[in-house]
Amino acid sequence: AKADGKGTWRVFEPTLYDAALQRLALRTGLDRALVAGEFELHYQPIVELQGPPRVAGYEALVRWRHPKLGLLAPSSFVPLAEETGQIGPIGAWILRTAVADAVTGGFGYVAVNVSPNQFIGGGFVDTVRRALDEAGLAPNRLTVEITETVFLHEATADAMVDLQALSRLGVRVAIDDFGTGYSSLGYLRDLKFDVIKADKTFVDGIVELADHERLLRGIVHVARTMGITVVAEGVETEAQRDLLRDMGCAYAQGYLYSPAVPLAETAGVRTVIEKG
Ligand code: C2E
Ligand code: CA
Ligand code: CA
Ligand code: CA
Repeated sequence: AKADGKGTWRVFEPTLYDAALQRLALRTGLDRALVAGEFELHYQPIVELQGPPRVAGYEALVRWRHPKLGLLAPSSFVPLAEETGQIGPIGAWILRTAVADAVTGGFGYVAVNVSPNQFIGGGFVDTVRRALDEAGLAPNRLTVEITETVFLHEATADAMVDLQALSRLGVRVAIDDFGTGYSSLGYLRDLKFDVIKADKTFVDGIVELADHERLLRGIVHVARTMGITVVAEGVETEAQRDLLRDMGCAYAQGYLYSPAVPLAETAGVRTVIEKG
């Protein structure tokens, strides 16, 4: 407890203590979770915008089915796993599982989110290659999604080398959350991305805000002249979809079509989307 200067006491240690305990419990839990098979991948369809709706591929999104806390979203454990380095083995599991599920589910392709730390120390390219070999998935049916934070990170040099090696293998590389960081255009110039994922914060504004609309239109245009595909994220309304289609955006992903679902539900979701 600590005096606040007016003779009363505010107790704050228990909160800090609880937070530290909770972190410790989660951290221990993460190790157990991998062994106990508590992680799950859910898949969100990525849909062709020009022409009749067709599911081109799926993005793998991790969840943790915690025995006490229920189904946890990645925001409640991925940052911790990145801090502790546990994202290494967890990320390798995610890759293997997503690639195997892409074969089982007959996905056109699967997109997998990769944390910057996964590039540290080498070995990532081998992990990818082995996963593809074991599952029998062609490299061009895997997209690796990275965010711009990879370029503000101790892993930058390792990441550049690995991304180029993956590119040579035929794996596609996507820059995620595009437009939320800095100097995005510099990265486009320096690395040959195959895909830009336009962040939801952009997509949210395009119907009401002329600036958002113009900026996204510009990105789509620049991308197209560079041979880069644009996927719009977080598409929730038909108005957004229509505007995106009108500006020449190739793919859309969002609750308008479907949230991420377990592998067993992907075929059903696809049927519904493709029926229009
Ligand atoms: P992200 O890669 O940008 O993924 C998109 C997030 O937006 C997902 O949240 C998805 O469920 C959500 N979303 C999709 N469509 C809509 C929509 O129309 N409206 C709204 N409001 N949200 C939508 P999720 O699954 O909670 O994932 C959050 C973030 O966690 C991801 O952002 C990604 O950065 C990270 N993440 C997820 N799975 C993995 C993974 O396997 N590995 C790593 N390293 N990070 C992951
Ligand atoms: Ca992503
Ligand atoms: Ca994203
Ligand atoms: Ca995001």
